[in-house]
Amino acid sequence: MTPDHTAGSDQRGDHVLLEEMTYEEIRTALAEGRRDVIVPCGAVEQHGPHLPLDVDAVHAERLGREVAERLGTALVAPTIRVGVSPHHMAFPGTISLRPETFEAVYSDYCRSLAAHGFRTILCFSGHGGNFAPLADMEQRLNDLVGPDCRVIVFADLQGLVAVWRSAVEHAGVDPDHVGGHADVAESSVYSFIRPGEVRTEQVVRGYVGPVNDEMLQRLFNDGMTALSDNGVLGDAHGFSSAIGEVCVQRVADMIADHFTKRMSDAAGP
Ligand SMILES: [Zn+2]
Repeated sequence: MTPDHTAGSDQRGDHVLLEEMTYEEIRTALAEGRRDVIVPCGAVEQHGPHLPLDVDAVHAERLGREVAERLGTALVAPTIRVGVSPHHMAFPGTISLRPETFEAVYSDYCRSLAAHGFRTILCFSGHGGNFAPLADMEQRLNDLVGPDCRVIVFADLQGLVAVWRSAVEHAGVDPDHVGGHADVAESSVYSFIRPGEVRTEQVVRGYVGPVNDEMLQRLFNDGMTALSDNGVLGDAHGFSSAIGEVCVQRVADMIADHFTKRMSDAAGP
């Protein structure tokens, strides 16, 4: 069948999520040079007594759309909703992929996307526990899809936390409430994306102390309960959807800038 692009205005221009597009629309997008594709990943894991388990998956999908908007050349693959979360297994409901399973999923995504003609595969996570596994697999993913396709990973967890701190501080809330998990920033993000879904009466304070390599090492080696009994790193008090909007926009800016820079490095001599 011949595509008919004259039959009024369709919605093709609004679609960036692969799974919401038809194969004809994807074929056209590729032919028009939209050869970058974003693969967000998240987690389905405990987020304190006041947030549902899907925070990181929902956040990652939203960031994927935002980053695609900024790049202008990218589509967005289905978010890998479940991630590497062994440090949250003390809490009911958490589902955790082993790092090798996680890498196998990313490998098959990348293989599929490269086969369709995408030239750059851009990977990032809405869940801190995926950052190290993602960084670790970047070279192997490149070996898998090269030389005509390239995989670029964003894995600056401390950079993301710094953006959250500055957004929270700017709103007049104590930046030490940002601890990196189910804290004031993440609760704000969820409140912005899913209004009314934060269990306001359950908002709590968790581990409040320095967020540094030593603390992250303890979290990933010994699990969340070594730092916080209620599953929160930081303090969720003071959250607002206004703060959440700023966090989403600034983190999307940071990820898009990283991808743009790495893509232009790759295009150089
Ligand atoms: Zn989270």
